[in-house]
Amino acid sequence: MPELPEVETVRQGLERRVLGRRISAIRVLRPGTVRGQPASWMEGRRVASFHRKGKTLIMELSGEGSRPRADLIVRLGMTGRLVLNPREAPLLPHTHACISLDDGREELRYCDPRRFGMLRLSTPQETEQMLHSLGPDALEVTESEFTGRMGKRHGAIKGWLLNQQVLSGLGNIYADEALFAARVHPQTPAGKVSKAARRALYRAVRNVLRRAIALQGTTFRDYIDIEGRPGKFMSRLQVYGRAGQPCRRCNNTVQRIVICGRSSHFCPSCQRRPRKTAFSL
Ligand SMILES: [Zn+2]
Repeated sequence: MPELPEVETVRQGLERRVLGRRISAIRVLRPGTVRGQPASWMEGRRVASFHRKGKTLIMELSGEGSRPRADLIVRLGMTGRLVLNPREAPLLPHTHACISLDDGREELRYCDPRRFGMLRLSTPQETEQMLHSLGPDALEVTESEFTGRMGKRHGAIKGWLLNQQVLSGLGNIYADEALFAARVHPQTPAGKVSKAARRALYRAVRNVLRRAIALQGTTFRDYIDIEGRPGKFMSRLQVYGRAGQPCRRCNNTVQRIVICGRSSHFCPSCQRRPRKTAFSL
């Protein structure tokens, strides 16, 4: 599912191909896909910018005349895709909305088979509030904020990394990869991660995200960028999705366990289990 690197790849694609263009029409094929009033809020406006915080994408629509600025908030959820198509391209199954650009010869289509994604129109104030409820972006957070937020928390570090109110942008893939790179066992209570390991984890999170963005993200099943291309980071994964295969660092077998209801992949010899077993998951 799309995490920070995939959403950033989509954002960069939108910036290249859609920024500054005028929305001529919006067709909502599945009622309720776009929360708010898409036709009256979107039609006729120009796309002023694309921002991202964590996995949330914000399309800013310019204010014109008596119409104030508005935002379209996009969350791709598990299987959401935004793809730029010529108008005559056949509609894929599960296409829920089409945003026509300029003279209508190209359109941005939103497709989401599992429907965990969300498109919502909001005022700049509502956008601000929503962004405020998210933790700092995993690429923007400073080292002291990152290590400080870990504090004395009892929960497993894996769950901490996935909590979007604490840190926004990581999902299962990059959390597992960062923990492996920093040699931290995913069940270690966040508050028990040593000072040195916190610093290593901070660096690992940034490294893995930057390297994944450079390769346009990871495609496991559904993810593609706005031009329909898959990400190329899959072959670089060290542990995620590799349970039962040899660790690329030590040759021991990569394991999969469930933490906080999510599968976690790790190498039991590169990532030592914490000594004390009395911790909550
Ligand atoms: Zn290993």
